[in-house]
Amino acid sequence: MIIDHVRLRQFATAIFQCLGTEAEKAQETADHLVEANLKGHDSHGVGMIPNYVGSALRGGLKVNANAEVIKDQGSVLLVDGGFGYGQVVGRQATDLGIEKARSLGLACVGSRNNHHLGRIGAYAEQCVAEGMVSIHFVNVVGHPPFVSMWGGRDKRLQTNPFCCGVPTESEPLILDMATSAIALGKVRVASMKGEPVPEGALFDHQGRPTQDPNAIAEGGSLGPFGQHKGSGLALMCELLGGALAGEWTMQDTDKQKEITVNHMFMLILDPNVFGGARGFAREVNGMQAYARSAEPAQGFDHVLLPGDPERASKAARLADGIPIDPQSWQAICQAGEKAGMTAADMAGFTK
Ligand code: NAD
Repeated sequence: MIIDHVRLRQFATAIFQCLGTEAEKAQETADHLVEANLKGHDSHGVGMIPNYVGSALRGGLKVNANAEVIKDQGSVLLVDGGFGYGQVVGRQATDLGIEKARSLGLACVGSRNNHHLGRIGAYAEQCVAEGMVSIHFVNVVGHPPFVSMWGGRDKRLQTNPFCCGVPTESEPLILDMATSAIALGKVRVASMKGEPVPEGALFDHQGRPTQDPNAIAEGGSLGPFGQHKGSGLALMCELLGGALAGEWTMQDTDKQKEITVNHMFMLILDPNVFGGARGFAREVNGMQAYARSAEPAQGFDHVLLPGDPERASKAARLADGIPIDPQSWQAICQAGEKAGMTAADMAGFTK
């Protein structure tokens, strides 16, 4: 089915409110998820609603928690999300970091104990909108691992995202990526659609390459992107996100319950701190144009920069609506029922 983003926001907001979530927090979480759909990341869009509802009903997700400052020392901030919606407490931690970077030039933020933060690019976009550069290292805990290290058959990590945002005079550059070959949610989406995943992304329980998205459920693993390099970056996300900013890493196996927790380490920098914002902007804008001017290689129309595919997807989906496969839609409606939505309320959104 194809659904308009406004109706989808209203439906998602209503489901979160049925869980007892305050209106503003329900709306903010819904907006973040729908924005992920608009930007083409269905893996981190409304398809996460069943996960969030389950987590809230089990008491893992604290639907009205706010971020709390634990430590504020010079340029360092430690903020605890209290297992609130990552979309709310992660945004609050980023707001505090931006404020500090504005006064000191740099903020080094530990944003810990967030329920799933969603699309990490959202926090980089928040920073670049205020003229800041930002770098984000994130680990994912609370679930057993799904991702193998390069050369390993056993699973040791999750999809640990890395993100970096740079403001420009035109479209910001937002590199936002899982360090696994593909995001776990993309395996879920492929499985729902009955489609194979790209070659090299998945391994079966014996460590053999496979394109079957169901391999994960049968004991297989997601591989890292970029072989040993992605594997190394994923480990650094685990250590900076989980050990430095957060409270635990994947090796704490007794904490692998049915909840998705993100710990995020963020550096937020005012471009004025080094050579000055003017020189930085000149080089960034010049480099952006220079990179785009490259002749396309065989099989490509043009060179894309980080953030371009998301902008193109958003323009198309704002105009044409957001496609949602039937299984994902059914799972979202069932989650609405579990959250306590009445059949009459549901019909208002789904007909
Ligand atoms: P992706 O592979 O689609 O894109 C990664 C990056 O590459 C993006 O910056 C994108 O703009 C850029 N890109 C994509 N195609 C390109 C092309 N053809 N040319 C040039 N640049 C291109 O993203 P992903 O790794 O599947 O991650 C999807 C989302 O999942 C991200 O928003 C990420 O933050 C999120 N995520 C979240 C968690 C979590 O626990 N919260 C975990 C993993 C991933």
